[in-house]
Amino acid sequence: MKVPLLDLKAQYRSLKSELDDTIIKIAESQYFILGPEVEKLEKNICDYLKCKHAVGVSSGTDALLISLMAVDIKPGDEVIIPDYSFFATAGVISRLNAIPVFVDIDLKTYNIDVNKIESKITPRTKAIIPVHLYGQAAEMGKLNEIAGNYGLKVIEDGAQAIGSQYIGGKYSGTLGDIGCFSFFPSKNLGCFGDGGMVTTNDDALYERLKILRVHGSKPKYYHKIIGGNFRLDAIQAAVLNVKLPHLNKWSQKRRDNAKLYVDLFVKSGLSEKPGITEYSKANKILLPETVYDNAGLTNYHIFNQFIIRAEKRDELRTFLSEKEIGTEIYYPIPFHRQECFNELVKNANYTENEFINSDIASSETIALPIYPELDKEQIRFVVDTISDFFTK
Ligand SMILES: *Cc1c(COP(=O)(O)O)cnc(C)c1O
Repeated sequence: MKVPLLDLKAQYRSLKSELDDTIIKIAESQYFILGPEVEKLEKNICDYLKCKHAVGVSSGTDALLISLMAVDIKPGDEVIIPDYSFFATAGVISRLNAIPVFVDIDLKTYNIDVNKIESKITPRTKAIIPVHLYGQAAEMGKLNEIAGNYGLKVIEDGAQAIGSQYIGGKYSGTLGDIGCFSFFPSKNLGCFGDGGMVTTNDDALYERLKILRVHGSKPKYYHKIIGGNFRLDAIQAAVLNVKLPHLNKWSQKRRDNAKLYVDLFVKSGLSEKPGITEYSKANKILLPETVYDNAGLTNYHIFNQFIIRAEKRDELRTFLSEKEIGTEIYYPIPFHRQECFNELVKNANYTENEFINSDIASSETIALPIYPELDKEQIRFVVDTISDFFTK
């Protein structure tokens, strides 16, 4: 049985005629950049996330970059981020000649360890970028409290987390000063190329974001500030306007798939329960802390990825690929070990064990197929195959 990591064609087939029609309409209008479809998407996103403003941008990376520019991050400013995320989270800070400051993660959720943030704050710290990794909101209560105490801006990297909610039911991306989203095709809400979105409830930040998106010009050809070309294409917005009404259903399917994985792993004897961080005879694989109910009391995880930990991760991956099961390693190298940050890390005086958890995550985690169109038999096959690996 073939189980790909992701099958984008399955989703396309289910909406093909609507998607094809909307693209033809854009072709006929020859209106390609920003414009009515982008405005419609911005309104739809505001309604969906229950926030005041949304600004369509060219990618998730540019969403982060324009957000840092909007809160006026300057050369030498420090921005706190988790040590373990997609590269963009760190790269955008360095591109502004500011300094990313890495903080270790929590091994139950793979999100930033909020208890390790405060000791990293200096007079140069200006902002924190929590990443809602794999589709689960970071511990925003404590994080916002720290940011408030020190006057720091909070820019949420929600690239993997559109539709996820934090305890209390508020959506990721509406919990800090600015929320950033990516519509890269493999995200939970993906377009037909690159695209992104920035959200905020702050009127002044919204004005600045809109101006920065078009090279900082207002009125046209008059520049008080320097921005960039961060514009979203009409075709991408049109595709997203067709897909957005289906997002909750897709998220629920991902959650159902995650629940089935957990139930089957527990039944197979490979794991006692989610949230355990130490291996033992009864815990040969470690499952992420996952919460299924949404009584407004818990995180609503939307599982952009389903991640397990295993000591022989690379052998397991080879075994699964021989059985035609697709997997991926997110992310094999944490920021503090990236060559481009060698100099920065040397200057930062991190301690020996500073990144003990991100080192573990990068060497032991593996992503299993979780996309909405997976069927139960495929999930059973993945769990059975992993079970075979441990008993062979
Ligand atoms: C995908 C991703 C980004 C970047 O989004 P792009 O649209 O690919 O530029 C940023 N941060 C995280 C955590 C991501 O997963």
